Amino acid sequence: MGFFSGIKKIGKAIVSGIDSVINTAGEIIGRVIGLPGFLFDLIVPWPRKKLRMRILILQNEDGSPLDATRNLVLEARAAYDLARAILKREANVKLISYGNLARVEVLNDNPPTAALEPRCRGPFIDSFGEAGFFFLANKQYSISILLLGNGAPISSFIVREIENDEKVGCSSGGFSDYLFVSSRGLTIPSDDDVGPASHASTTLAHEIGHSCGLNYMGFSEHSKKKNNLMYKDNTRGTRLNRLQKAGLRNSRFVTYL
Ligand SMILES: [Zn+2]
Repeated sequence: MGFFSGIKKIGKAIVSGIDSVINTAGEIIGRVIGLPGFLFDLIVPWPRKKLRMRILILQNEDGSPLDATRNLVLEARAAYDLARAILKREANVKLISYGNLARVEVLNDNPPTAALEPRCRGPFIDSFGEAGFFFLANKQYSISILLLGNGAPISSFIVREIENDEKVGCSSGGFSDYLFVSSRGLTIPSDDDVGPASHASTTLAHEIGHSCGLNYMGFSEHSKKKNNLMYKDNTRGTRLNRLQKAGLRNSRFVTYL
């Protein structure tokens, strides 16, 4: 490792470190300030709140489409719309894009393989390294960084595969303002193996749930109930219980204005 690449690496680690500190402080302080609202939301999730989220689709290392056989933009829009319907119905939260930007966009940057095939090792660790820095450089920024990420948009990156294709989605909970879903996680394949993928998967909505504090606000990573959105695999349903609704609405990403 040369001197300058060493300096560059240290610089990137410092930037990742600052980002982790801001996000962690924002998550904790946001939860405390939002406590009265949380208690009220346990009774009735009202009034309607807003959550900003954008989907950013990666290209391959050489700039070619992530999957030339599929229209990932259309699939991502379908997953987005499914997440929007679930969050509105279950928690009275309106999922919107950021500013007047499109809700789904293909990134022009040629990503490193580490970002295309990220690992899912949990909060803080994933923010560092080549992949973490790519996500940091390409996520959607907003003025909310001055408010420790209160009202920040969530960036959902669509990647090639996660953990050697073992996982289809990954979120570091409220300690990060981005998550990733693999292209395989956008749709649920048809039952007969040969037909095209049949419909949008709940993976994106599930990962948004993690980013908004589910299910650790309920003291476990996943729900044991199959009809619940926070059930572990994609045979899950789309429901949220009272504590989950209030926990999601108490997230710093979910705001009244
Ligand atoms: Zn999960």
